[in-house]
Order: sequence, then structure tokens, then C-alpha cells
Amino acid sequence: MTSEIDRKEKLELNKLQKRLRRLTGQAIADFNMIEEGDKVMVCLSGGKDSYTMLDILMNLQRSAPISFEIIAVNLDQKQPGFPEHILPEYLSQVGVNYHILEKDTYSIVKEVVPEGKTTCGLCSRLRRGSLYGFAEEIGATKIALGHHRDDILETLFLNMFFGGKLKSMPPKLLSDDGKHVVIRPLAYCKEADIEEYSLLKAFPIIPCNLCGSQENLQRQVVKEMLQSWDKQYPGRVDTMFSAVQNVVPSHLADTELFDFKGLKQSEDAFKRLNIIEL
Ligand code: SF4
Repeated sequence: MTSEIDRKEKLELNKLQKRLRRLTGQAIADFNMIEEGDKVMVCLSGGKDSYTMLDILMNLQRSAPISFEIIAVNLDQKQPGFPEHILPEYLSQVGVNYHILEKDTYSIVKEVVPEGKTTCGLCSRLRRGSLYGFAEEIGATKIALGHHRDDILETLFLNMFFGGKLKSMPPKLLSDDGKHVVIRPLAYCKEADIEEYSLLKAFPIIPCNLCGSQENLQRQVVKEMLQSWDKQYPGRVDTMFSAVQNVVPSHLADTELFDFKGLKQSEDAFKRLNIIEL
């Protein structure tokens, strides 16, 4: 009985790994995320997404037609109770080059943000700053983050609901100062697949609520909204993601993106109209 369960789990793991590999490889190719000789700094938080990203990238690296380097980096933000030994043990075991960066952003956030206010905004900015700085120090040519398809859609809705902007998280991005290229190799992967893969691989997950803050409540609300839509209308999330890849500026209302003022009848059509009227 147990071996039957083991066999089924192995099959499921293989199937999932193939799918995640295929989708990650596809995203890397579509956006030219990784090139020959790249030094890719893979940011690891200790959550399911970043473990999966590292695992799949290492897997792809073994069979890729190009050669690139991977350096796993974790930022220890000095949150109380952060289990410092977990990531070094895992990273040594899988045999990847890694670095643990230590920066007490937790104390800064606690000091600066008034009690009861959300700390995630400042915390993320400080984290980004430290990681970008380190990428420069080690000469990383790409910074890889573990966001997936569902993060991209949630961000799209959050920006629409609260930011009044039709924008999301791009699979590839140049930082504002032009110094860093950020890539999201899991951009085509579903969160549910990542979750299952991470369970079957038994990654040593580090809980993400050590800071005592609840991660972005609005994001949670949007996540539940998308999940319930998808349950009610299966395939809706897939269709919405296709929409993000099929943007038609002439059928939106951004005058910067499309020259609505300059829209005129074409000369030929005008002549044809005149002939018909005559
Ligand atoms: S949940 Fe905590 S660690 Fe995560 S971004 Fe918010 S404040 Fe930072």
C-alpha cells in the first residue's frame, strides 16, 4: 500500500516537474531572461516559490544549451525567531553557491512605522535595496525573483483597484536606476502547481509571518476573489493571464499609448464613400 502511494507521488512529482520546467523554459525564452555567461542571483526567502524557482533553474541549468551561473542569496532580516540554520543546510545539501546576507531591516521597520500601520511597504523597499546592492557587489547580471502567474494577476487587480493603473509585475524589468535586470522565471507557472511541487519535494519552508505583520491583506482578498472566480468559471484565470499577453492599446483609453487625436478616415475609404454617395 505504502509503495503504491510512493509510486503515485513519484509520478505526480515527475509530471509537475516536467510542467514547471517547460513553462519556466518557455518564459525564459520568450523574454530572453537568461543569456550565455549570465550570473543569476536567485533570491531566496525560504518560501515555496523561491525554493521551487531555485530547484527548477538548477534543473534547467544542467541541460541548457548555454552556460550560466547561479548564486542563491537570502537576506536575513533579523526577524525574531528566524531559523538561521535552515537555508544554509539546504543550500549546502543541493550543492549551489550561496550567500546569506544579514541586515537588520526588522528593527528599522519597527522603529519607523507607527504601531498598527502596515509594515510591508517599507520592509520590501529595504529588502529590495539590500538585494540590489549585493547584486552589484557580486557582479550579478540578473536578479531572479520567485513571483508566479497568480502574483502577476493579483498585482494587476491591486493596481486597478487601488492605484488606478493598468499595470502588473513584468516577467523582466530594468530597475529604475538602469543598473539591474530583474527576471521572474516562474511568470507562467500556477501557484497551485508550485504549492504541490513544494509539498512533494518537502522543501524546508520558513514561515513568512515571523515579522508579526500579516502580509498585505488586500492581496489576500484579491487572491480569494480570483480563486473563487476560477472555481465558478474554470479556466478564467488562464484566460485573464492570456489577456495580459494580448494588450490592444487602440481599444483602451490611454492617449499616451495610442494616438486617438490623430485618428482620421483613410483617404481610400473617404474616396470610396464619396463614390458611393455620388
Ligand atoms: S510580511 Fe513581514 S517580512 Fe513580509 S514584507 Fe511584510 S513586513 Fe516584511
